[in-house]
Amino acid sequence: MANTFSRRRFLTTAAALAGGAALLTAYKYKPLSAVTAIEPATGSRYYPPALLGLRGNHEGSEIFSHAAALHGKTFTLPEKAEEDYDLVVVGAGASGLSAAFRFSKLHPEAKILIVDNHDDFGGHAKRTEFVVDGKTLCTFGGSECLDAPQSTFSEEVHALLRELDLDYIKLGTYFQEDLYQERLNLQTAVLFNRATFGKDELVIVGKEHLNAENAAEAIPKFPISEEAKKVLLELYTRPRDYLKGKTQEQKQIFASQTSYHDFLKDVVGLPEDGLAFLSDISSDYWGHSIRAISVSAAVESGYPGVSELGLEEEPFEEEPYIYHFPDGNSSITRLLVRKLIPAAVSGSTMEDIVTAKVDYSLLDTPENRVRLRLNTTALRIDNETDGIALAYMTRGGKELKKVTARKCIFAGHSTITPHIIPSMPEEQKAAMKSNVKIPIVYAKVALRNSRAFHKLGIYRLYLPTSAYSVMQLDEPSNIGDYRHADNADQPIVLHMSRIATAREGDTAREMYRNGRSLLNTRSYPELEKEALDIVRILFDMAGENLDDTLAGIAIHRWAHGYSYEQVGLWDSDEEAEAATALMRRPVGNIHMAGSDVAWMPYLQNAIDEGLRAAHEAAA
Ligand SMILES: Cc1cc2nc3c(=O)[nH]c(=O)nc-3n(C[C@H](O)[C@H](O)[C@H](O)COP(=O)(O)OP(=O)(O)OC[C@H]3O[C@@H](n4cnc5c(N)ncnc54)[C@H](O)[C@@H]3O)c2cc1C
Repeated sequence: MANTFSRRRFLTTAAALAGGAALLTAYKYKPLSAVTAIEPATGSRYYPPALLGLRGNHEGSEIFSHAAALHGKTFTLPEKAEEDYDLVVVGAGASGLSAAFRFSKLHPEAKILIVDNHDDFGGHAKRTEFVVDGKTLCTFGGSECLDAPQSTFSEEVHALLRELDLDYIKLGTYFQEDLYQERLNLQTAVLFNRATFGKDELVIVGKEHLNAENAAEAIPKFPISEEAKKVLLELYTRPRDYLKGKTQEQKQIFASQTSYHDFLKDVVGLPEDGLAFLSDISSDYWGHSIRAISVSAAVESGYPGVSELGLEEEPFEEEPYIYHFPDGNSSITRLLVRKLIPAAVSGSTMEDIVTAKVDYSLLDTPENRVRLRLNTTALRIDNETDGIALAYMTRGGKELKKVTARKCIFAGHSTITPHIIPSMPEEQKAAMKSNVKIPIVYAKVALRNSRAFHKLGIYRLYLPTSAYSVMQLDEPSNIGDYRHADNADQPIVLHMSRIATAREGDTAREMYRNGRSLLNTRSYPELEKEALDIVRILFDMAGENLDDTLAGIAIHRWAHGYSYEQVGLWDSDEEAEAATALMRRPVGNIHMAGSDVAWMPYLQNAIDEGLRAAHEAAA
């Protein structure tokens, strides 16, 4: 089945699956970072971007939503409402904040309450700050970049960016595109692991990731069988029409119904160790391994061995990976909060937002027309005659609180709505449950210097079948007063990405669910150990001491990461369109936003849905 619903474009490297690949050496260190105790959100020292340890869906953030969604607890509305608003927004991610911003433009006097279950705003667009030897390093904990803004952003999204004074073309000029390859002369590499490939081995690939030009030099060095090397070389440098003899129609049916994994195994005859090497090339990009990638999707993505099959490629415009704030799309949510609650966020330009001070004690004060309440989970939303009533629980709180409002915009995870909006029609509840999100972990490791990487001559790695499948020195952006490291001796953040989707499962949804269950069994020390053991292997290879260089670690665990996106092997365009049309329907005075209702894991969809819901609610 064709996948016309779009594709993931924002990740630049191939990557990984979690699962329990036990590749690593002895447990050499104590877990670094105990999660800092949370202060009340009203305290002036409350500053969640500086918290290390387990971030993303941090400890305590999902207790109440899981009680409703997993344990069937039904919450009832308290009798007395404590507050009354014109609008309540559930979810302080890009979508909820955009919705609040648009609604307040349309109704400048409106009183708005935004609630979010996390200790920080931004949803997936979170940031982490490390202070290393006196220097503050900002990095992204989730949503990274504006992906293909020229070709995929709607006019409404462009208009919102202009209202935020965000000039993305200018943003692109701050990105140090030539830093690693040209100025520092660093390359990409593959790190093979002992558990799958018999030894830990680093193979330098070249300036670009593995391709037809550099394959002949790199592949012979791989620790895999001679037969696998031969077939891989052919796939990269002289692919054939492996479907020769089939009619065009037969080829197209085959390509839409067969996984790339099965094609490589059964049609091409790639041996197991060659398959292991390729198994994760789709993970970062699509959120699942090559077992859930159709041959058609492989053609579309330009994967090795499919260019001569005579299958049509959908042309798409590639845009460079340059629209990146040092803290990723967190800066966009900070810009939104600055517009909504100006007193809480200092500064006035897109250049100063990265180093702007956010005073969290001013987010939820009675003087504000717009209030942002963190650590607060919405657990029941009912329609009333002329508005809505919403019950929420605040972390550490003992009892439910009730607020009323004329309208509600729900911009949280769609799968919880059947449990907290009982009046939602059954067919809409079923559609809301279809958005099974992809589990992802981003580990952020602060280093006092990057000498180990310079000694090895590398800045980015692909790690097939490892716990984390992509590792790279952080994306380099110099904006405002913020400066990224530009030599080996300066502190820097190492970014590691793990797509925690399981390989096992009959459908993509099952793979995501199985992966999430596995991820939920991992303790924080285990996650930290898995990340640092891989870094240690590299440091040992470089003859550098990790313990002396390590300055801090934050692990952003996103049990519910990317929104579900149409998967060609299992979903048709018609199913995707029908589900999303149902999901967008308002339930009385409750309007639906969030990237989930678009089945699209992108900032632009989150914003589009937020703006649409705001217009609906404001009408
Ligand atoms: C690791 C990662 C990397 C990504 N990288 C990119 C990228 O580079 N570019 C890109 O375009 N997109 C990226 N994305 C996709 C990302 O989802 C979108 O960019 C965007 O941030 C989604 O915004 P949202 O507001 O729809 O949802 P979210 O960001 O998930 O925000 C929803 C918020 O609502 C809260 N919530 C849910 N239910 C409740 C409730 N009952 N009560 C209170 N609060 C609730 C959630 O916990 C969350 O904080 C990435 C996602 C992840 C996970």
